[in-house]
Amino acid sequence: MVARVKGTQDFIDLSLHTYVLDRVAAHFASYNIMPIETPILEHTSLFVRSLGQHTDVVSKEMFVIAGTSESEDSLCLRPEGTAATVRAFIDNNIVRTPWNVWSYGPMFRYERPQKGRYRQFHQINVEMIGVRSIEYDVQCITMLDRFFSQVLGLDTYALTLNFLGCHEDRIAYKEILGQYLDTIYDQLCTTCHARRHANILRIFDCKNPQCQALYEQAPHIIDHICPACQVEWTQLKNDLELLSVSFTVRPTLVRGLDYYNKTVFEFVSSNLGAQNAFCGGGRYDQLVAQLGGKNDEACMGAAIGMERLLLLLEPHKERLLSGPVPSLSIIIPVTPEQYTLALLIADQLRSYHVPVQVLFEDASLKSLMRKADKFNPHFVIIIGEQEQQERQAQLKNMRTGTQTTMSHMELIAFLTQIKS
Ligand SMILES: [Zn+2]
Ligand SMILES: [Zn+2]
Repeated sequence: MVARVKGTQDFIDLSLHTYVLDRVAAHFASYNIMPIETPILEHTSLFVRSLGQHTDVVSKEMFVIAGTSESEDSLCLRPEGTAATVRAFIDNNIVRTPWNVWSYGPMFRYERPQKGRYRQFHQINVEMIGVRSIEYDVQCITMLDRFFSQVLGLDTYALTLNFLGCHEDRIAYKEILGQYLDTIYDQLCTTCHARRHANILRIFDCKNPQCQALYEQAPHIIDHICPACQVEWTQLKNDLELLSVSFTVRPTLVRGLDYYNKTVFEFVSSNLGAQNAFCGGGRYDQLVAQLGGKNDEACMGAAIGMERLLLLLEPHKERLLSGPVPSLSIIIPVTPEQYTLALLIADQLRSYHVPVQVLFEDASLKSLMRKADKFNPHFVIIIGEQEQQERQAQLKNMRTGTQTTMSHMELIAFLTQIKS
């Protein structure tokens, strides 16, 4: 037997998956956000240019396709969705903004799989291109919060928020942070030493408790932003409060990628353990220009981790899926002489959207009934020789145990009326 690739999963029950995606589509549509799909394969350079050479994703987690690496045409399996959406915006010469889109699909990281971290994982990405005002940030965060709380009924999560300022603020802040780090440099771990020079904001993501203790005294970027950014940061917080979106400010939240500026946020849940964020996003005003777009477009977006969201939803599965789902009917033709008739009846029922499984099996009625029972059907339809001749069928209600003889017409009328 060939086992599945380490760090990947088979999803053999998609009911919750499908539920989430249907609700996302409807919820996002009410904000005029439409679905798109971009390829899984992209040029490696797209992510090197956008995410940054020194981010973990690019420096050690890229799933580069063997044989193409190091050349200009190096291809990879996409590690995230934002850069690809921006590429699609530029590639397709989109002129009408705001361009509000969402997509769903697999993302890939070439790393040693560990608990809660997959090599192939799935994300819902939502991106808004051409959105300058800070009110778009308020709207995007509110939309996500409403989705989790009102649409899915989750209450065990928190929203954490930070503000990274504009490009100039970050250059100045990195200088200030660097000076602080130099005073405690000898006490830091080797990862932090490397980040100090390559990607200084990422030091806050260090898992080492000694480093974390030292960073409690570190200067925070929100105390070093320019007056214009301060106005936006205040407005963002005020308007979220006005809309009753609760949040906590986490001054060390930086998110690992180079393209973020101003607003960054994460939805976290203590039910998820150490990898506790299930949705994260922020503003990325420079990315369109950086990837060669004609106009400089301010942008805002977020990604929801499907695997982690499903973990949170699992305890609510019954409540979420309790809606009217058409229940399955099983048709048992007793001998091969009734197979064609069973096909015809099943075809008619399906045309009325009644789900049907026919058991074309050469076995005793008793063992066929046992087999049918395993599908937990509401009704089993039995067609034997006598029923065939009299143009009838036996309808057995598996929940009450009652059995009725009906004509084919009556049967179809009955089952299409009580689909659920
Ligand atoms: Zn600023
Ligand atoms: Zn460290």
